[in-house]
Amino acid sequence: MDITAPRGTNDIMPDEVGKWQYLEEKIRSICRAYGYREIRTPIFEETALFQRGIGAATDIVEKEMYTFIDKGGRSMTLRPEGTAPVVRAYLEHKMYGGPQPLKLYYIGPMFRYERPQAGRYRQFHQFGAEVIGVGAPEVDAEVIELATYLYSTIGLEDVEVQINSIGCPGCRGRYREVLRDALAARLDSLCKNCVRRYERNPLRMLDCKEEGCRKAMADLPPIVEYLCPECAEHFRKVRGCLDDFSIPYVINPRLVRGFDYYTKTVFEVTYRGLGAQDAIGGGGRYDGLIAAYGGPPTPAVGFAAGVERVLLTLESRGKELPLEERLDVYIAIVADKGKGVGLPLLRDMRHSGLKADIDYLGRSLKSQMKVANRAGARFAVIIGEDELSKGMAMVRDMEAGSDEEIPFNQVVRALRLRLSVS
Ligand code: AMP
Repeated sequence: MDITAPRGTNDIMPDEVGKWQYLEEKIRSICRAYGYREIRTPIFEETALFQRGIGAATDIVEKEMYTFIDKGGRSMTLRPEGTAPVVRAYLEHKMYGGPQPLKLYYIGPMFRYERPQAGRYRQFHQFGAEVIGVGAPEVDAEVIELATYLYSTIGLEDVEVQINSIGCPGCRGRYREVLRDALAARLDSLCKNCVRRYERNPLRMLDCKEEGCRKAMADLPPIVEYLCPECAEHFRKVRGCLDDFSIPYVINPRLVRGFDYYTKTVFEVTYRGLGAQDAIGGGGRYDGLIAAYGGPPTPAVGFAAGVERVLLTLESRGKELPLEERLDVYIAIVADKGKGVGLPLLRDMRHSGLKADIDYLGRSLKSQMKVANRAGARFAVIIGEDELSKGMAMVRDMEAGSDEEIPFNQVVRALRLRLSVS
C-alpha cells in the first residue's frame, strides 16, 4: 500500500501500548490521590477559542494550528493544547457556580503543525492538570509537586524544575518597554523571528534558541526585577512552598513559555540528555484567562506533560516500566476432542480474571507448548487423550517445570490460588 501515516504522527503498536497504559494508569491513580477529576473535551473546537486564549501573536496560533472550514462554513481547529478547552467547558457548564477550587485533569491527543523531529510530533499526547478558583501560591507549588511526583514514580527522579515569574499584565507592560529600549539598537543582530517578535510579542524573544539572539540578550535584566509588589510576593511564596515540598528548582529568567495567557508563575520540567526537545512538561498560572473569555475573574494554574517525551526519556535512560504482559495460563488441547473441556475452561478462567489463551489452529500438543513458552505463560493446562479419559488436566508450572494432575472442575480454583488472584 502506498498510503502511510501522516508525517509527524505515530501508530502506537501493541508492543508499546502497555507502556502507555501503565503511564495512563499511574496518572489516573495519582490524580485520584491528589483530588483531581478527569474531564474529556472535544478534539476540535472553534478556532476563535485558541486565537483568543493562546494569543494571536504566538507561534502556535500564527503557524502551528490545524485549522479547517467544516461543511457548515465554520472555522474549526484541532486542539493544540488542553487548557483553553477546559476553561471553555468550565464556563459553558457554569462550573464556577459549584464548589471551588475545581481540580481537573485530562489525557489526550493534541495537534500542532510543527517540523517533526525526535520528540516533536504533529499529533502528540498530553497529560494536563488544572486548578481553577484559587490564587494561592501553594497551588502553584502543588501542581509542580504533582508533576515531579508523577515523573519520580516512573523512575525519572533527576528532572530539573525551572521556574520564573512573568508577572501580571502591568509588570509585563513595564518590562516590555525595558526590552524594547534595550534591544532597539541591537535589532541587526537578532534573527528574523525575533525582529518580528520585537514588534508583536517582545517577551517571546527571551526564549529564542538562536545563538546570535542569546548573545544579544545576555545582559538584559531579568523580568523578576520588574514585578509589582503583589507578583513579587507571590513568586517569593511559591518558592517557599517548593522548599516546603522539598522540590529543588532553578530560576530561569529566560523562561516565558509559548502562550499569552500565563500570569505570574511559569515553569518547565526538563530532562537533560533528551536533546533539543528536553522539556517533558510545563505550565503556569493563568489568572486572566477566564475573565478574558467573558467569565468571572477567576485565578487558575495548571501544567501539561508530553506523554511521548516522558516515554522517550525513560527509553533514553534504559528504564523499563514494570509491565505485566505475560499470560497466566495457556491451555494446550488435543485437536477437536479437547475443545469440549478446553473452551468452557478457557471461558471460566477469563471470567475469573486470569489471562488465559488456547490454540485454535489444531497444532500438536508439542507445538502448543512452544506457543505457551513464547507467551511467557506461568502455567500450562494440558488436556490430551490421557487427561480426557481420566477427567484430570495436567497443570504444568512453567517456571518450576513440575506437573500436577487436577480434576477439570477444580483447575480454575487451583490456578487462582497459585496465582493469588483475589
Ligand atoms: P506546551 O503545551 O507547549 O507547554 O507543552 C507541554 C509539553 O507537551 C511539553 O513539555 C512537551 O513535553 C509536550 N509537547 C509539546 N509540543 C509537542 C510536540 N509537538 N510533540 C511532542 N510533545 C510535545
